[in-house]
Amino acid sequence: MSKDCDVLVIGGGNAALCAALTACEAGASVLLLEAAPREWRGGNSMHTRNIRCMHDAPQDVLTEAYPEEEFWQDLLKVTAGKTDEAMARRVIRESHHCRSWMRGHGVHFQPSLTGTLHLSRTNAFFMGGGKALLNAYYRSAQALGVQVRYGVSVDRLELRDGHFVAAHAGSERLTARTCVVASGGFESNIVWLREAWGRNTRGEWPADGFAIRGTRFNQGVLLKDLLAQGADAIGDATQAHMVAIDARAPLYDGGICTRVDAVSLGIMVNRDGRRFYDEGEDFWPKRYAIWGRLVALQPRQLAHCVIDAKAVGRFMPPVFAGERADTLSALAHQLDLPEAEFLQTVAEFNAACRVGHFDHAVLDDCHTEGLQPAKSHWARPITTPPFYGYTLKPGVTFTYLGLKVDMNSAVQFGGLPSPNLFAAGEVMAGNVLGQGYTAGVGMTIGTVFGRIAGASAAARCVGDRRAAA
Ligand SMILES: Cc1cc2nc3c(=O)[nH]c(=O)nc-3n(C[C@H](O)[C@H](O)[C@H](O)COP(=O)(O)OP(=O)(O)OC[C@H]3O[C@@H](n4cnc5c(N)ncnc54)[C@H](O)[C@@H]3O)c2cc1C
Repeated sequence: MSKDCDVLVIGGGNAALCAALTACEAGASVLLLEAAPREWRGGNSMHTRNIRCMHDAPQDVLTEAYPEEEFWQDLLKVTAGKTDEAMARRVIRESHHCRSWMRGHGVHFQPSLTGTLHLSRTNAFFMGGGKALLNAYYRSAQALGVQVRYGVSVDRLELRDGHFVAAHAGSERLTARTCVVASGGFESNIVWLREAWGRNTRGEWPADGFAIRGTRFNQGVLLKDLLAQGADAIGDATQAHMVAIDARAPLYDGGICTRVDAVSLGIMVNRDGRRFYDEGEDFWPKRYAIWGRLVALQPRQLAHCVIDAKAVGRFMPPVFAGERADTLSALAHQLDLPEAEFLQTVAEFNAACRVGHFDHAVLDDCHTEGLQPAKSHWARPITTPPFYGYTLKPGVTFTYLGLKVDMNSAVQFGGLPSPNLFAAGEVMAGNVLGQGYTAGVGMTIGTVFGRIAGASAAARCVGDRRAAA
C-alpha cells in the first residue's frame, strides 16, 4: 500500500495520529511516516500532560465551567491579537467534544494534579501522560489498518503548482492522493535556532546555551522545504515557547520534569548576582513560558532561582535537587556567584518586601516597594534557612514559524489553498497562536486541526473517486 495510498501523513505525534485516525474512519487508506524509530515515536506530544477544553458546566475531570468566551479572551490576551478569530473559535468549540472521540480511541483522563499549574477547571489531564495517549492512538491506528513506518524522515515534497505529487525520503519516492504534513516546528534544529537568534552584544550565540525540551526529530526539514517552494508563512522564526529549565537537563527530551516551578516563590538572579524581572508578576501558569526567553537574554544564558525554607512544599518538587546551604554566603559560593553582589541583591530585596497576607493561590498583597524590578506578589524576605538555589537555562518547547492554512487545514500558496496538501499541529499552530501561550492549547490545536486535516484529505479522495466513477 506504500504506493498511491489515499492519505500520506508525515509525522508521528498527536496531530499526525489525529489526522490518520480521522482519515481512516472516513474510509481512506492511510500511510503514516514517522522520522523517529518506534521507541522514540510521538514527537513532543509524548511529553505532554493535558489538553485545554471549553465546557459550560462541570464535565467528568473538569471542574466548574470554562465557556467559549473566556477561552477566546485568554487566547486573545496571550497572543496580543496575533490570532485568527474564526480558526481560534473553531478550535475552542471543537475542544468541547473532542474528548469523547479521544476516549473512543483508548485515551483515559484524570483530574489535574495538585501543586501543578492550577488547571483543574480548564485542562483535562491524560492518564499516563502524552506517552500513554500516543500509545493508545497507535494501537487504535493499527486496529483500523493505518500503515505506520518508523525511521522514515521525509526530505522534501514534490509539488506541482501547489498540488502534492510525492514525498521523497532518501532514494524512495512515495506517491499518494493527498498529504498531511504534521511534522512539528523546527525547535530541534540547533543550526536554525542559532541563525534565528544570532549573536548578542556580548558576542555570545545565545542558542548555544539552549536545551530542547522535547524530541530531537523536529528539524523543520519540511517546513523549510515548503517555504522554499512558495508556501505562505505564518509567525516569526525568532519566537519560541521557552521555559527556564534545570541547567543539568539533557540537550533533548528532558521533558516536563526539568522545569523548576519555584520562581514565583523566590527571586531570580543572573550570573552577576542581580535580579532582572518581576518574579511575581502574575500566576505561574501565565508566566512560566516567558522565563526561558528572559534567561536567554542574561549573561551566559544562565540564571539562578533562589528560595528559602518557607517555599519548600509549595511547588512541584523538581527532579534534580537544588543546591542547599545554611547561609546565603555559602549558597553564593555553591552557585559560583559573586558573593558581595548577591548578598546585596538579597538584602535590598528583603528590605523592600511589604508582607501582607501571603497566599500563593491568589494575587496576594505581598509585594516590594521602591525596588527595580519590583516583585508584585508573593514577596517575602529570603531569611529562613536552609536556602536553596537552582541553576536554570532556556529550554525551547516549540517554535512559532509555520505554514499558513485555511479553515480546512489546506496549505496556502500565494493566498490560494492547495487542493490536496494539508498541515496540522505545531507546523500550523501559528495561525491560531501567533505568539504567547496558554497551557494545554498546543494539544487542543493539534487535536482539532489534526482531525480537520484528516477529514479534508479523506473527503478529497472520496470526491476524486466519485468523480472517477
Ligand atoms: C516537555 C513538553 C511538554 C509539553 N506539554 C504540553 C501539554 O501538557 N499540553 C499541551 O497542549 N502542549 C504541551 N506541549 C506542546 C505540545 O507538545 C505540542 O503542541 C504538540 O505536541 C504538537 O503536536 P504535533 O503533532 O504538531 O508535533 P509533535 O508531537 O512534535 O510531532 C511531530 C512529529 O513529526 C515527526 N517528524 C518531524 N520531521 C519529520 C520528517 N521530516 N519526516 C517524518 N517525520 C517527521 C517527529 O518525529 C514527530 O513524530 C509540550 C511540549 C513539550 C516539549
